[in-house]
Amino acid sequence: MPNASSSPAWLPVLRGLRHRCPACGEGKLYQRYLKQMDVCAACGAPIGKIRAEDGPPWLTVLCLGPFLAGLTFISSRQESWPMWLTLPALSLFAIGAVLTLLPRIKGAIIGLFWSMGAHEQEEDA
Ligand SMILES: [Zn+2]
Repeated sequence: MPNASSSPAWLPVLRGLRHRCPACGEGKLYQRYLKQMDVCAACGAPIGKIRAEDGPPWLTVLCLGPFLAGLTFISSRQESWPMWLTLPALSLFAIGAVLTLLPRIKGAIIGLFWSMGAHEQEEDA
């Protein structure tokens, strides 16, 4: 099994951001959109044991919320922009931004937990 202490703590986070196994950086982190692989196909690391829980949605909202609120405010002040165009455009941008950012943030959190040794802890019964 790969040893998390042999690499810098930020490296698993960076690998998670790239949807890669936090241990080796080669295997895929997800088998579907947000569904983690149980075991890394490249190195056999038990990446499915790490649970990010509610952290990724919370952090995604925290990152995107102020930006989207600012965009909404700016667009509402532009009277020359037609409402029928700005509302759907902002909605599509928000949905696209969330769908793009959420798996990356989840990967980064999984990488952070990996670097903290979460995969080495025994599961409670
Ligand atoms: Zn791996």
